[in-house]
Amino acid sequence: MKRVYRAASLLEVAHARNVLITAGIRCELRNQYLAGALGDLPMMETWPQLFVEDDDERFALSVLARAATATGGSPWACPECGEKLEPQFLQCWRCGADKPGPAPA
Ligand SMILES: [Zn+2]
Repeated sequence: MKRVYRAASLLEVAHARNVLITAGIRCELRNQYLAGALGDLPMMETWPQLFVEDDDERFALSVLARAATATGGSPWACPECGEKLEPQFLQCWRCGADKPGPAPA
């Protein structure tokens, strides 16, 4: 199995999982209930993660990249600190400012 996606928010991972399932890719959601439970692990290792079969990795990554572009628009710059951010992020990872404009439903 290969990891193709992870995020701090289970909502984001669930969305990515739906995208993969819609594309016909079998995937496995791990760490769904683990967040915060394992203090010894690096934080990102406790995030919910999506795994796919080795053979599906490249296809899964391209599907996720397309989905991020389609739903998130273009990369944006943080209005507070000027950090450049990928469209799938709704908050600046650097200063925590929200993405400008209407929030997606
Ligand atoms: Zn910022």
